[in-house]
Amino acid sequence: MARVEHCDIIVIGGGSAAFEAAIAAREAGAARVVMLEKAPEAEYGGNARYSGTGFRFVHTGAAEIRRFVPDIDDALFATMTIPPYSAADFMADLDRMTQGRMNRELAHTLVEQSNAAVHWMRNIGIKWEPLKEHAKVDGKRYFERGIAIHVAGGGIGQLTQWRRIAEELGIEIRFESPVCALHGDLRRVEGVTVSAFDGHYHLMAKAVIACAGGFQANPEMRARYLAGNTDSMKVRGSKYDTGEVLRLLLDLGVRSAGQWQSGHMSPIDANAPDFETPQHEDGRGNTQSRYDYPFGITVNALGLRFFDEGEAQHSYTYAKTGRAVLGQPGARAFQIYDQKGLKCLRYPHHKATFVEAGTIGDLAAKAGIEPAVLMHTVEEFNRAASDDTPFDPRRADGKATKGIAIPKSNWAIRIDEPPFRAYPVTCGITFTFGGVEVNRNAQVMSTIDQPIKGLFASGDIVGLFFHNYPSFTGQTRNAVFGRLAGKSAVAEN
Ligand SMILES: Cc1cc2nc3c(=O)[nH]c(=O)nc-3n(C[C@H](O)[C@H](O)[C@H](O)COP(=O)(O)OP(=O)(O)OC[C@H]3O[C@@H](n4cnc5c(N)ncnc54)[C@H](O)[C@@H]3O)c2cc1C
Repeated sequence: MARVEHCDIIVIGGGSAAFEAAIAAREAGAARVVMLEKAPEAEYGGNARYSGTGFRFVHTGAAEIRRFVPDIDDALFATMTIPPYSAADFMADLDRMTQGRMNRELAHTLVEQSNAAVHWMRNIGIKWEPLKEHAKVDGKRYFERGIAIHVAGGGIGQLTQWRRIAEELGIEIRFESPVCALHGDLRRVEGVTVSAFDGHYHLMAKAVIACAGGFQANPEMRARYLAGNTDSMKVRGSKYDTGEVLRLLLDLGVRSAGQWQSGHMSPIDANAPDFETPQHEDGRGNTQSRYDYPFGITVNALGLRFFDEGEAQHSYTYAKTGRAVLGQPGARAFQIYDQKGLKCLRYPHHKATFVEAGTIGDLAAKAGIEPAVLMHTVEEFNRAASDDTPFDPRRADGKATKGIAIPKSNWAIRIDEPPFRAYPVTCGITFTFGGVEVNRNAQVMSTIDQPIKGLFASGDIVGLFFHNYPSFTGQTRNAVFGRLAGKSAVAEN
């Protein structure tokens, strides 16, 4: 007979959503909170480990952001232009990105509670830094609306801070503890079965909070749900996010939500590892992200452009651009810049794969593209770029191409200042959009439209997004719904 243990709250997972839920439950009065993490201790934390940890949230501008970064020099802070971001701005971004398909109630919850959730993190000791991704012009730093800070130390920095806080609160973290079954039905959940080294055991609790991530690291599930060659694509985050807890929930009778054929997919270095793209040692973000395409053109292996690189700031397009790359021959493309574009790069590129040449023809030959085609593409693009509007990397500048089949709507500067560079890219999946439905209390809903007693969820396992995603919303969603899940799980009992 397998042994049976008891606790108050079980949290499945070891990423940021899990820590936030566990800490909120403990703060709300749960005596014994146990986190069950499938990964070994050296690899705990799921996608959080690889995350840039940027947070998008409603705020009133520079003075409020200053409270998150009190230690940075006054002179440096004075160079930062940080515009306010209202609830209406955040809602409009979510609406536009998801084409109005996101659950309204949950979108409102996310927006309305984003500020309180991020301040909650600050109040319990999480340290912050200004985002590195901003435009630098004439010694000033211009931040986009809504995105100004990230957690100090990036992915590992965030996890280390969460773990310290959790352990100080007496939360128990069990590594190498995959959950392989749920106890309960579509009316009530009472515990889980854990597949431990020394055999299965049952852990029973007043509530279970599922924070086990998406299914992006499972090629079989990607092929089944996302289709279109997604089984062969690279995975930017944790190899442990394989979706089995999501399947257990669906089998129980949980209602599914979000877009199951879609996910957050962005351009990454074509030579990135198949899983788990590394961060910079100093926490400056991921070494393999290639988000700077607005300042150049992108062509496929045939030398042809295939999307509007300047549709909007990358924060509004990068999560769908990976899928566009996946659809190209060999699932590859090349981001091409001249010296003007290279000066605008915001993401750390020092470990990037690229080729460089003094002419477009030589660049094409080095990249393995037919030179005549790439030269034609660049000449056609340069002819369509106009001098009517000044170039301004700080904002969507309206400097658009004219009379070309695939437009570039902003930042259409000519590719004419050598040496030129071509960065090979492919598609990397970040997380999947299909998941379980929750209500405003982060309680999981059943297919009979009832909240399931004792069952809550937060993070990528929740189905929320459709089509696209405004950057840095994942971490905020985790904080908002993780906090709600922890509080609600305790309040229900
Ligand atoms: C390269 C990269 C950069 C990113 N940058 C940002 C950013 O700057 N801002 C932002 O908002 N978002 C960013 N994201 C997305 C964000 O990090 C994720 O949305 C977020 O980390 C998801 O959190 P989670 O806790 O739901 O899932 P995860 O962090 O993936 O955690 C899931 C956990 O569940 C565990 N688990 C899985 N199965 C089981 C099981 N059977 N039993 C027990 N445990 C299980 C896993 O081991 C893992 O610990 C980025 C992601 C990546 C990959």
